[in-house]
Amino acid sequence: MRFTVAIDGPAAAGKGTISKGVAAHFGFAHLDTGLLYRAVGRRMLGGTDPVTAAQELSADELEQGDLRTAEIAQAASKVAVIPEVRSALVDFQRAFARRAGGAVLDGRDIGTVICPTAEIKLFVTASAEVRAQRRYLELNAKGSDVTREQVLADVRERDARDADRSTAPMKPAEDAVMLDTTDLNIQTALAKAVAVIGEKLPTAR
Ligand code: C5P
Repeated sequence: MRFTVAIDGPAAAGKGTISKGVAAHFGFAHLDTGLLYRAVGRRMLGGTDPVTAAQELSADELEQGDLRTAEIAQAASKVAVIPEVRSALVDFQRAFARRAGGAVLDGRDIGTVICPTAEIKLFVTASAEVRAQRRYLELNAKGSDVTREQVLADVRERDARDADRSTAPMKPAEDAVMLDTTDLNIQTALAKAVAVIGEKLPTAR
């Protein structure tokens, strides 16, 4: 069975947790595409040209070290505006999406550019304040000394860069189902996503 679930949305809206939960529920493979841009961003911080880093990227790099830091997030959104970086990462993502057994990909442009024919598209959002608070708690639990204000500023800056870039800007696909998690706990958000996907699944089998 080929079945692609595309989950897009801004930073810390709950995409990652929902994607992992959906993948576990349906037995699909999961790819957090933000890690690709983060790995390229990390290489750029180390002095490598981002286009070269994207062209040379290996799946192993996604497993090495902690890519989920605030510094790497900013670097990721900077390399993500470069069209050659984005195009170097397309084939890997599309191959993953069409693997047998079903796949969930989460990112910013999955439903619009990478998998425009995905069987189901979700766009997960939440207010910037709620997203910043969630990300602050995550970073804080890892021992980071960032403040809430810094995290909110960082989230707003990344949102603006991701939504305003000319290549593959973050936006909902026309046929995406919107899921606003501002007032939802994670169990409820996940249950809603599972219900929406479950409705489509029988027709794909
Ligand atoms: O999702 P995450 O916060 O890990 O993504 C880091 C950055 O990578 C985003 O701010 C965005 O600039 C970029 N990205 C992207 N397209 C994707 C996934 C992530 O441009 N599909």
